[in-house]
Amino acid sequence: MVRRQTFKERVFSCACTRCRAVVALVEEKGAVLHFEEKRAGRLCEIAVVAGAGPRGIAAADVVPERRSYAEHVGAELSGSISDSRDPVHIIHAIDHSNHNVNARNRINIGSARAWYKNGRYYLQ
Ligand SMILES: [Zn+2]
Repeated sequence: MVRRQTFKERVFSCACTRCRAVVALVEEKGAVLHFEEKRAGRLCEIAVVAGAGPRGIAAADVVPERRSYAEHVGAELSGSISDSRDPVHIIHAIDHSNHNVNARNRINIGSARAWYKNGRYYLQ
């Protein structure tokens, strides 16, 4: 019997740019990301912004790309936060990462940095 791959296993075994960006965040930058299949909004949004590389991603593209990535990895964006119409996860990552000692509901992006500049989001 073939065991169904977990969400994390699917991401780690995929060769696409976004999945590789997630793996690099975890393995090279020491990020601690949660692979929650049902509320995957945070992970998926981090994947699309990190996967955009040094060029970043336009603010208006974040949500559609998050949704498309969730489909790609077979994850679910359930609930108003996970499936928000706004790029709430990357905004949260900018203000509430492990680099901020006063962060609420901290997103641990390891040694990576998240920022916004001229209408684009970056996570490098
Ligand atoms: Zn992939």
